[in-house]
Amino acid sequence: MELTIQNLSKTYSNGVQALKDVNLTIGQGMFGLLGPNGAGKSSLMRTIATLQEADSGSVTLGSLNVLRNKTDVRKVLGYLPQEFGVYPRVTAETMLDHIASLKGIANSRERQVIVQGLLEKVNLAHVRKKNLGTFSGGMKQRFGIAQALIGNPKLIIVDEPTAGLDPAERNRFHNLLSEIGENTIVILSTHIVEDVTNLCSDMAIICLGEVIAQGNPNALVAEVQGKIWKKFIEKTDLEATRAEHRVISTQLKSGKTQIHVYADEQPTGFEAVEADLEDVYFSKITERMDVVTV
Ligand code: ADP
Repeated sequence: MELTIQNLSKTYSNGVQALKDVNLTIGQGMFGLLGPNGAGKSSLMRTIATLQEADSGSVTLGSLNVLRNKTDVRKVLGYLPQEFGVYPRVTAETMLDHIASLKGIANSRERQVIVQGLLEKVNLAHVRKKNLGTFSGGMKQRFGIAQALIGNPKLIIVDEPTAGLDPAERNRFHNLLSEIGENTIVILSTHIVEDVTNLCSDMAIICLGEVIAQGNPNALVAEVQGKIWKKFIEKTDLEATRAEHRVISTQLKSGKTQIHVYADEQPTGFEAVEADLEDVYFSKITERMDVVTV
């Protein structure tokens, strides 16, 4: 099954055009949607999750018209939003049972089996009787995944899931997502490049409401390989360097500023860099931003 997004556009009432003619085809597995804050990721996720209307365009999941048949889409959708509130005084087990009955699983024995299975899957079975208010950030996110998985969804959307998680929690969350991604469409929306590098076999970069790159992460890296160069400079020389080169990123390393530039030929005084997905991301984003500011 595929999710197909065609010519999707959305302008909010304040005049912000959050989505501009977005076209994407997303198959099974983990799909990374990467973009800076304000790029339009949540607008796109909320539209696919049937929570807001688009102005024009279409979204189909297999043969299902997502924008028209909202009720049918919700039956096969699992959604973990950016802001995931929990009822603090309810136990994980009770809450999942409640959500399962809201999702239409009427038989209480059946619900019990599903809830126990999910708690084990997300490694929360040992705290199933604990109130959600006592959970750490990582535990809440895993609980969020458990609720999103009720009813065996065909499409799972997770919006900025690892913000605020410590490295160990993030790792556990990544493993869980990869497992799920084996037989479902999972869209992972994030501004963290590393999340996509570690998890996704397909991805898109979105900036200012537009898709500016799409493909397999390794293939995208291969496209910029041999075109990224680095140099340590004084911070005070940054503006002058920017005037001369296409600086795509700057990073402070042991008190010195390391810059990466994009160029077809090796610029004098620069060293070659083994490009990675961050270089792809920053070269695409800076290229797009330049076009806008000119
Ligand atoms: P992202 O998830 O990539 O951070 P969003 O989709 O949240 O991006 O936002 C895209 C743009 O739309 C931003 O400029 C944001 O300020 C604007 N925006 C988002 N939601 C609304 C809204 N409900 N009303 C008006 N503007 C909005």
